[in-house]
Amino acid sequence: MPQRIGILGGTFDPVHHGHLRAAEEALEALHLDRILFIPAASPPHKSRTAVQELDHRMEMLRLAIGDHPRFELSDLEGRIPGKSYTVVTLRTLHGLLAGEGERQFFLLVGMDAFLELSTWWHYRELFELSSLVVLRRPGHPEEALQGFLKAHVSPLYELGIGSDVFVHPELLPVHVMSNTYLGISSTRIRWLVARGKSIRYLVPREVLRYIAVKRLYESDSDGR
Ligand code: ATP
Ligand code: MG
Repeated sequence: MPQRIGILGGTFDPVHHGHLRAAEEALEALHLDRILFIPAASPPHKSRTAVQELDHRMEMLRLAIGDHPRFELSDLEGRIPGKSYTVVTLRTLHGLLAGEGERQFFLLVGMDAFLELSTWWHYRELFELSSLVVLRRPGHPEEALQGFLKAHVSPLYELGIGSDVFVHPELLPVHVMSNTYLGISSTRIRWLVARGKSIRYLVPREVLRYIAVKRLYESDSDGR
């Protein structure tokens, strides 16, 4: 049996319970062996100055993952120079793990990210390198998914009857998760901290403490 490896990339500025719970549910639903959390060193869609240093974001992820036996923190994008492109990360992972037996990759993306995929560098190649797992997220309509997939990736993607997987004759499947809706975002968390408001229960306790001790997000660079 090939190893089934989930990948959750993002800015994680900071990591929150929306990320963690969605990853846990994907792990269980798709019988993944492990999930790699890969923070973007230099997110292509976000301006450099507005994002916390990678070290802080990594440390908060480390604290959030704790001793979860199947969650792993990866510094891969920190080691690839330049912008963090998911397709490059996936190619690199394929290469790095090539000698270790058969591997299947499952790229986890929230509905918001999925519907913007056509702006990602060489995005069509993602569907050759990895299955996609779309996580639902409040405020981002699921009805748009099928149209997007057919228009921007391939019209040959078809949803099986009574199934939540889009299949294609050549490209890899796209799974649609029915994960718990959690309307939590890092943007909102940064906004709350900048206004001196509580973020308890939105992030793990250890992350809460780290943000307080390091005094992160106290000045609101988002302006939101
Ligand atoms: P920001 O507000 O700064 O964009 P974010 O909360 O969207 O932060 P990201 O680091 O951008 O967090 O997200 C990483 C990945 O996790 C993306 O694919 C995103 O869609 C997904 N994700 C984030 N929060 C949720 C959530 N509450 N439910 C489902 N998916 C989520
Ligand atoms: Mg986001």
